[in-house]
Amino acid sequence: LIQLYIPLNFLGVLYRELRQSLTDIERMFGLMHEHREVADAPDALTLPHGPATVRFERVSFSYDPKRAILHEVDFDIPAGRTLAVVGHSGSGKSTLARLLFRFYDVQGGAIRVNGHDLRAVTQASLRAVIAIVPQDTVLFNDTLFYNIQYGRPDASRAEVEAAAAAAQLTDFIKRLPDGYETRVGERGLKLSGGEKQRVAIARALLKNPAILIFDEATSALDSKTEKAIQAQIDLAAEGRTALVIAHRLSTVMNADEIIVLDQGRIVERGTHAELLARDGDYARMWALQQQEREEAAISG
Ligand code: ATP
Repeated sequence: LIQLYIPLNFLGVLYRELRQSLTDIERMFGLMHEHREVADAPDALTLPHGPATVRFERVSFSYDPKRAILHEVDFDIPAGRTLAVVGHSGSGKSTLARLLFRFYDVQGGAIRVNGHDLRAVTQASLRAVIAIVPQDTVLFNDTLFYNIQYGRPDASRAEVEAAAAAAQLTDFIKRLPDGYETRVGERGLKLSGGEKQRVAIARALLKNPAILIFDEATSALDSKTEKAIQAQIDLAAEGRTALVIAHRLSTVMNADEIIVLDQGRIVERGTHAELLARDGDYARMWALQQQEREEAAISG
């Protein structure tokens, strides 16, 4: 029994870690079958592929009953549009992404995709229409090809190459002596933050997902990389329903709608221009980030 217990316990810990960081969790779901906290309803529907509208309907949620994290959060992302979420650390941004992927069920309200409550569809069909570009992309000690194909292991060579092209990786790969066969990861070629993100986008695009979740990295980036990442997000999100969890306001300027979360409540919403004109929390965060950037430019 002890022999059995240890690996299961280890898997449980690993699962919790992965769920928290939104890192490669999609693949892990198969492995972690035993540890799911949510279950398919006996009559669960299969969510069809195709354009998806996402609706958060007065969603309330807490990890621990003693501490509410989200309070009646209400928004729509029409099919093909991008919604960005900004707010201080701990305001609940990543929790929205975890709930949309149904790591947890909501305690109040509902989340719907094309009108279907997430609790009424199969988890497999939900996760087939959503791809996540996580904060930190894990690269395996294997070839670049393997690392991209990992997004959908049955993808053909042509499909992997098309996804790499869509993620603007082609020029980079061409410059490598071993091309797609280059070994990356801890013991191989180290990729920059921007290159890693492109691999993550290529992986995500291999699924051709109707819904794309970007969990932006918190680490500081130079403004050139920041611009490149913003362009990558815009490109990958084109034609898809996108939820962008943003730590830098410059990456969300083009979003169709931006919501500002504060302690689990939406306190402002609108486009970048509307929010600046409002002169509230968002405008203050924007001014602060601009100032930090100018200071960095002077000292750098
Ligand atoms: P950041 O910008 O730092 O990534 P965030 O806005 O994405 O933060 P969340 O990760 O959604 O914030 O966390 C919201 C709150 O929920 C935080 O106070 C956090 O401590 C709490 N929290 C997150 N995960 C768990 C968990 N698994 N169990 C209990 N509390 C949690």
